Amino acid sequence: MPELPEIETIKRGIVNNVGSKIKSIEVNRLDIIKRQEFELDLLYNETITGVGRRGKYLLLTLGEYFLIFHLGMSGRFYILDADSEDNTPHIHVIIYLDNGNKLIYQDTRRFGGVFLVRDLVKFFAKMGVEPLTDDFTADYLYNITRGRKIPIKSLLLDQRIIAGIGNIYADESLFLAKIRPDKKAGLLTLTEAAALSVAVKEVLTRSIEERGTTFRDFRDGYNKTGNYQKMLKVYGRTNESCLDCGTSLTRRVIGGRASHFCPDCQK
Ligand SMILES: [Zn+2]
Repeated sequence: MPELPEIETIKRGIVNNVGSKIKSIEVNRLDIIKRQEFELDLLYNETITGVGRRGKYLLLTLGEYFLIFHLGMSGRFYILDADSEDNTPHIHVIIYLDNGNKLIYQDTRRFGGVFLVRDLVKFFAKMGVEPLTDDFTADYLYNITRGRKIPIKSLLLDQRIIAGIGNIYADESLFLAKIRPDKKAGLLTLTEAAALSVAVKEVLTRSIEERGTTFRDFRDGYNKTGNYQKMLKVYGRTNESCLDCGTSLTRRVIGGRASHFCPDCQK
C-alpha cells in the first residue's frame, strides 16, 4: 500500500500543476467521496494554490478549499494530457485543468477515498507527528513509548503517533535500528529510541530518493514504478539470507501484520 514515500513521490510529480485552474471534475462513483464539507462545483475555476502531503494523504489546496485523496491499498493518482486516452478500469475521479492536463484518481479496491475539506486543522487533528520533520526526535519516540506494552512495530504503524509509516517502512526501519518488531515499545532504551528515529528518517528519505516502492500497484504521478523495492533488506524476503549476517530471515504476524526481521541482528 502507498506509504509516506509513495505519496511524497506523487506530490512531487504533480507539483508543476500549481497555478493552473480546475475546469471541471468528473466523479464516476459518488461513494468514493468520504467526506463533503462543500459542493464540488465550487472548485470550478479555482486555482490550485498548493500541493501537499500529510501522512499518507495527498492534498490539493484551492484557496480555502482542500481536495484530499487517500490511496488506500492500491490507489493511483497520476497526470495525463487532457486528450490522451486512458482505458484503465476503476477510474473514480478526473480533474480537468486549464493547462491541458488531467489528474486521475484510480483505485481497484476502493479502500481509500476523496475528502472535500474546509477545516484542515480539524481533519488532521488526530494525526501524529511527521517523521521527516524536526518534531520527530529520539526524545519524542522515547517519551511516547513509556509504559506501552504493544509491540514497537504496532506503535510505528499507529497514525495517531507517527504519520505515514506502513508495513514496509516499519519493518525496514526496525531492521536498520537492530530492534525486533515484537519488542514491547515500553522496553526501548533511549539509545534504541534514538537509533530507531534516525533509521525511520533514513529509510523514508532513501525511498523518496528512489521514488518509492512498487510491488504491484504503486505508480508515481506519471504512472511509472518506483525503485526502492530493489533495496529492501527484510520486507518480503522471508527465508532469504540476512544481508548483514547471513541468517535466514523470519516472518511472523505481529499485531495482525506480517512482519519480517532477522532473528540474529535484531534484539
Ligand atoms: Zn542478520
